[in-house]
Amino acid sequence: MAVIAWIGLGNMGGSMSVNLATAGHEVRGFDLNAEAVAAAEAGGVKPAGSIADAVAGADVVFTMLPKGEHARAVYLGEDGVLAHADTRTLLVDSSTIDIASAQALHDAAAAAGFRFVDAPVSGGMSGAKAATLTFMIGGEAGAVAEATEYIRPMAANIIPTGGATTGQAAKICNNLMLFINLASTAEGAVLADRLGLDKQVFWDIASVSSGDSWALRTWYPVAGVVPTAASNNDFAPTFTTELANKDIGLAISAARDTGTPLEIGEHVQQLFQRLIDSGKAGMDCSAIVKLVDGTLDS
Ligand code: NAD
Repeated sequence: MAVIAWIGLGNMGGSMSVNLATAGHEVRGFDLNAEAVAAAEAGGVKPAGSIADAVAGADVVFTMLPKGEHARAVYLGEDGVLAHADTRTLLVDSSTIDIASAQALHDAAAAAGFRFVDAPVSGGMSGAKAATLTFMIGGEAGAVAEATEYIRPMAANIIPTGGATTGQAAKICNNLMLFINLASTAEGAVLADRLGLDKQVFWDIASVSSGDSWALRTWYPVAGVVPTAASNNDFAPTFTTELANKDIGLAISAARDTGTPLEIGEHVQQLFQRLIDSGKAGMDCSAIVKLVDGTLDS
């Protein structure tokens, strides 16, 4: 069994690291948030006092952090991974970050003699808990193959995407589609209600019809229909509006770089921005339904 360092024990990283511990690995977790550390500890992860403590003697380091700036700080900072890990340690970043940051991490890791892959995930908090995530992995083929073996206990699908940063490219495009689907699901759900349809009856129809999507089946924004949905829980976050806005912003920025018009994506970003401006940045992103059903002030 391997020694695994895990940095970033939040909504996703908490469950993912616990699944590796459950698989029998020694997992050493580090997070700035004491509550996140305690929750992972309850699942079998050993708390580490610093990044240096977590990575000492590790076979592999996983990171699951909010944004590119956090990933850069954790890998490149004075107290960071590259400064303290041994170069035999494989480095796997599963955060969703901008391509420029991902490329900077690949370059810095290679210059320091490390194997590094970008390995973002899809499947949400429910997929992280159930160990059914899809991983998309970019990097040198040997490092991707090595990472695959460590990833298995967390994943239903592991898909190599090509060279450095292609995992992030796949993830950014996937999430552009996810958030557009989420916005359209919110509109369909509220309109169905106003037309007098029972919420369960409408969901039963849409989920086996052409309106189906992962957002509909996992994040349905009306309470009492889908067990994994944050709508059942007053929109307590499984994926915050702030992170959703970040992801759709990554797509828009990549689209600008490539001359790709994203008219729908840009509109959905404006919707997330309105939610954030109303003080809902920390709420689940499926609260986008509030812009449709008129409950923005609640
Ligand atoms: P989160 O905010 O719940 O967790 C991030 C954790 O990183 C927090 O606990 C935070 O304290 C920690 N952290 C930040 N800076 C740190 C540092 N310097 N050192 C140690 N810990 C640090 O976010 P999340 O929902 O778990 O998402 C993590 C990443 O996964 C994001 O990039 C997100 O876009 C992506 N993602 C999220 C989901 C989802 O459904 N939540 C799904 C797929 C991918």
